[in-house]
Amino acid sequence: MNIILMGLPGAGKGTQASEIIKKYPIPHISTGDMFRKAIKEETELGKEAKSYIDRGELVPDEVTVGIVKDRISEDDAKKGFLLDGFPRTIEQAEALSKILKELDRELDAVINIKVQEEELMNRLTGRRICEICGETYHLVFNPPKVEGICDNDGGKLYQREDDNPETVANRLEVNIKQTKPILDFYKEQNLVKDIDGSKDINEVTEDVISILEELK
Ligand SMILES: [Zn+2]
Repeated sequence: MNIILMGLPGAGKGTQASEIIKKYPIPHISTGDMFRKAIKEETELGKEAKSYIDRGELVPDEVTVGIVKDRISEDDAKKGFLLDGFPRTIEQAEALSKILKELDRELDAVINIKVQEEELMNRLTGRRICEICGETYHLVFNPPKVEGICDNDGGKLYQREDDNPETVANRLEVNIKQTKPILDFYKEQNLVKDIDGSKDINEVTEDVISILEELK
């Protein structure tokens, strides 16, 4: 079962990824983790990636792709993988197709968790943090007992700079622009399975699982 998981920030990708790997014996491979692992183990590509990161430069596609290839060739990924955060560009998507061909494997599906932008804005701008203890709340999903006040210690709740509407809207725009060509690329190959991510989390998980069951 070789799967890519896609979804905008706030769509619940992380939650669904952990549900998927609970049910199926495949590793959750996120690019960030992969880089950290390759760098820690000082593989050739890991060292190369580190040299770019240390200079504050972007890691070139060929290095990233090499690290992905190494990772999906490992024993625990022989039965499949759940890729998250990769591919990020069309070049990477094309490179992934090539790698899979070389490894004599095929992509089974691209799970795309869809949530309306407005709903994502609500989710992403609702976080509030206590200025005393750092407890995290959410205006909709996990509100404090008294508005604006921490349940633990009566501290005032504040909003992080990253969570303000302008920053969030900007982050979403960038992500939409980045993912659209990749989704189009996989749509042409009939691999995209859209999931309605606005439903209750458990229902979303059920929908994801039922699609994965069909692939077996
Ligand atoms: Zn507090």
